[in-house]
Amino acid sequence: MHDVINPATEQVVATVPSTDVEGTDRAIARAHEALAAWQAVAPGDRATLLRRFSDVVRDHVEELALLEVANSGHTIGNARWEANNVANVLAYYAGAPERLFGRQIPVPGGIDVTFKEPVGVVGIIVPWNFPMPIAGWGFAPALAAGCTVVLKPAELTPLTAIRIGELALDAGIPEGVFTVVPGKGSVVGQRFVENPQVRKIVFTGSTAVGERIMAGAAPQMKRITLELGGKSANVIFADADLEKAAATAPYGVFDNAGQDCCARSRILVQRSVFDRFMELFEPAVKGVAVGDPALESTEMGPLISRDQYDTVASFVPDDADVAFRGDCPTGPGFWFPPTVLAPVSPDATAFREEIFGPVVVVTPFEDEADAVRLANDSDYGLSGSIWTRDIGRALRVSRGIESGNLSVNSHSSVRYWTPFGGFKRSGLGRELGPDALDAFTETKNVFISTED
Ligand code: NAD
Repeated sequence: MHDVINPATEQVVATVPSTDVEGTDRAIARAHEALAAWQAVAPGDRATLLRRFSDVVRDHVEELALLEVANSGHTIGNARWEANNVANVLAYYAGAPERLFGRQIPVPGGIDVTFKEPVGVVGIIVPWNFPMPIAGWGFAPALAAGCTVVLKPAELTPLTAIRIGELALDAGIPEGVFTVVPGKGSVVGQRFVENPQVRKIVFTGSTAVGERIMAGAAPQMKRITLELGGKSANVIFADADLEKAAATAPYGVFDNAGQDCCARSRILVQRSVFDRFMELFEPAVKGVAVGDPALESTEMGPLISRDQYDTVASFVPDDADVAFRGDCPTGPGFWFPPTVLAPVSPDATAFREEIFGPVVVVTPFEDEADAVRLANDSDYGLSGSIWTRDIGRALRVSRGIESGNLSVNSHSSVRYWTPFGGFKRSGLGRELGPDALDAFTETKNVFISTED
């Protein structure tokens, strides 16, 4: 059993069983048995079931959101968005079963067609930072493709996934088709990788564990999608709308208390406007409302755990170059104030490592080439923003930055109908968007002779 702690109060909110190896294998075996019947469901009927699943999640948005506030310390506004995102992603991929097209390719002497066959049982391993959306980005397209799913939530944040598993049954998704298996990464997650009945792993989490998953999948040639860490740049040119860039920069990095793989945790500012940017940035940082995540007015909640607090704090030692900080509550809860380190050299640990907390570094650059060089001076390549009024520059820099998801004059990263994923050590493969089903299918080519 594992105690689930509310990070805003440090109170136990629930106790959840930790599945052992045998229990994991039983869940995988059930998912494997359920495959044939799920694949035999007519495309239109599978679409109807997914639409119903979406509707049931939508009917429970408030319940799921409150559960996430209590389990993860997410602000109520974010938590509602996250629960709605699950419903939206299910509704989007409910359109897929009837559109799982193959091709007809001209060949002599017959007809050549391709089929998209489901890969089989999919094991989805979810981190604690966005428990609902990250689960949905895996299970919705997997189910639409005709795969069955076993899903392991993070130990710290299993409650919404467990509830969504119950809602799937309520919606009529057959037993065994979608099973939530709470437990440890080193037990349940590892078993997903080792058990040959699991044909595909979707892993979202740290780059260190992602490496182990990739190595573990190799002997079976198990298919993998990896969504890993980030250290994204927010690049602000002198010709940008500086007021808007400064006002929005805190939300590009401190959302979800900085526990966001897409956090723009390196702000790169053209040297000629560096001081002006910092003048505008300071009140914006101090204005971030940090506190009780259940309040509608709160913009940032606590960190997820005491361990995460200690990790984040280690990046801000007593002699750190703290330019300014926001406020946060004192007393119980894992509270860390929005913190700005500046100026920070590209060699510094805080510039290079993913902090995964509300700490941002600000570094000056000289010109466009220097901006692209600094943005790319990272092992990661997940996200990023570019602020400029020059459309040519916006496009040149967008093409120059080695990153999977960029936004110009905005900090948006994720829309469920556009592709999402990372370059370099930020991962492998893409989720969401029109092509996500390719990650859950194998292409089969069939030639049919028309000769007598
Ligand atoms: P983590 O790697 O510690 O854990 C992620 C999941 O993997 C958990 O469910 C954990 O139990 C499981 N796990 C741990 N060891 C395992 C093993 N040996 N075998 C199989 N599974 C194992 O990551 P975390 O601390 O939960 O999440 C934070 C990290 O996730 C950050 O690096 C963040 O950038 C990354 N992340 C990436 C994305 C993305 O889309 N690229 C999204 C969110 C989070």
